[in-house]
Amino acid sequence: MSAKTLEEPVRRFQEFLGHGCVVTDPVRLRTYECDGLTHHRATPGVVVLPETAEQVAAVVRICAEHGVPFVARGAGTGLSGGALPRTDGVLIVTSKMRRIISIDLANRRAVVEPGVTNLAITEAVRDQGYYYAPDPSSQQVCSIGGNVAENSGGAHCLKYGFTVNHVRALEIVTPDGDIVELSENDPGYDLLGAFVGSEGTLGVTTKVTVRLTRAPQAVTTLLAAFDGTERGGRAVSAIIGGGILPAAIEMMDALAIEAAEAAVSCAYPEGAGAVLIVELDGPAPEVAHQFGEVTRICAENGAFELRTAAGAAERAAIWKGRKSAFAAVGRISPAYIVQDGVVPRTALPGVLADIDRLSREHGIRVANVFHAGDGNLHPLVLFDDGEPGAAERAELVSGRILDLCVEHGGSITGEHGVGVDKSRYMTKMFSDDDLDTMQLVRCAFDPLGLSNPGKVFPTPRLCGEVPGVRKGAHPLVESGQAEQF
Ligand SMILES: Cc1cc2nc3c(=O)[nH]c(=O)nc-3n(C[C@H](O)[C@H](O)[C@H](O)COP(=O)(O)OP(=O)(O)OC[C@H]3O[C@@H](n4cnc5c(N)ncnc54)[C@H](O)[C@@H]3O)c2cc1C
Repeated sequence: MSAKTLEEPVRRFQEFLGHGCVVTDPVRLRTYECDGLTHHRATPGVVVLPETAEQVAAVVRICAEHGVPFVARGAGTGLSGGALPRTDGVLIVTSKMRRIISIDLANRRAVVEPGVTNLAITEAVRDQGYYYAPDPSSQQVCSIGGNVAENSGGAHCLKYGFTVNHVRALEIVTPDGDIVELSENDPGYDLLGAFVGSEGTLGVTTKVTVRLTRAPQAVTTLLAAFDGTERGGRAVSAIIGGGILPAAIEMMDALAIEAAEAAVSCAYPEGAGAVLIVELDGPAPEVAHQFGEVTRICAENGAFELRTAAGAAERAAIWKGRKSAFAAVGRISPAYIVQDGVVPRTALPGVLADIDRLSREHGIRVANVFHAGDGNLHPLVLFDDGEPGAAERAELVSGRILDLCVEHGGSITGEHGVGVDKSRYMTKMFSDDDLDTMQLVRCAFDPLGLSNPGKVFPTPRLCGEVPGVRKGAHPLVESGQAEQF
């Protein structure tokens, strides 16, 4: 679609939102051209900054009338290119929708607008002894709308579950511009569950009702240093196999530790080939008992140094290295790919050995940071973008790591989503029939294929081409004017 065809939609956006909330200046548009996956870029046709659900609905309705694709964007921290804009479309940015609408501690819920940051929810209820449990490392800046779209996780999701376990209701704008409520109490199909993790392909979230969690009575954080990831991995299996469910178990290998030291001077034990961060929470006697068990298991599996955080400051110091790990690798490498895959926990040692082999074979360093408790790997594939062929080799290693995940019965993504980056890997996990079935869901919500097209699915299709979808379900589909997705 040419810029000319956006003229009329832009005029109507200005009418509904005011000129200040519609960005057409080419220089300002460029600030939205990518998310955290910076090597995929596109300048949006136009950016709108709505302040209310009604304004979002008006924008989406105008898009539907004109067959214009739209992409929602929160904070733009996504790592799979989910918020990559369309040059021929509209980017709907939620940064002006940042109100905490209500907090209801008696029912342990808060209602917030989609642009509210993850951490702002916890900050609003912390003094009353509550918090919002899913904790992506980007939580200071990422939006709850983005978290819902990606079904985001974090270090503490091992015990507390992902975003989907903490969303009680959503208000969404459907791709034809209606404002609809989806709730956990709705009878029939779990449409709320289908929407969470749909990466902006089923509509735009305009309100989120989240579950608030009571802060635990006691928290103990422990750092264990090992000579390498194999012994650390054995300790993880023994802890979980022993019936202990820590709030978090995170591992970093030697290269990731080196990067974190360079970036934030986290002072992890010298000579560590791997560190394990184990956090235990719950009633004080239970935490004390589990702490004894975890220290014993770590020591039995070769931990050569154990540290326990005495208070909040020491706990933050232990977490500092882990939470900064993604950005920290920038200190030891000019360029890097943040990979995200899952393997069964028991396959961790074998897969890490295979990653090491791949790294040596291709001359590409890989730093490993992972949610060890649930087998969610975040290999950081390092390369020098000034060296000819290095980017291609890094891409190859990165793809081979995902192959390993699939071969071991895992997944091509644990929490960063498919977006534009991993759509080509979907066929490694799913058959054509599986993908067609998913597209049926997509078509039910979005028959015109206007909501975040080009993401998640490997093959662009019209709704009319998906087996099981009646041709002629919508005049634009029938006439071939509907956008491919
Ligand atoms: C340093 C760093 C650390 C990270 N750590 C973690 C981590 O520990 N765990 C984790 O899960 N992720 C992590 N991420 C990834 C990212 O922060 C999450 O995916 C986050 O949920 C994205 O939120 P956002 O507001 O930035 O969304 P965006 O990047 O703006 O968008 C992400 C997707 O959500 C869609 N979307 C956004 N808002 C809406 C809406 N209102 N309605 C419908 N769709 C919408 C977009 O279209 C896009 O598909 C990390 C990223 C960085 C940069």
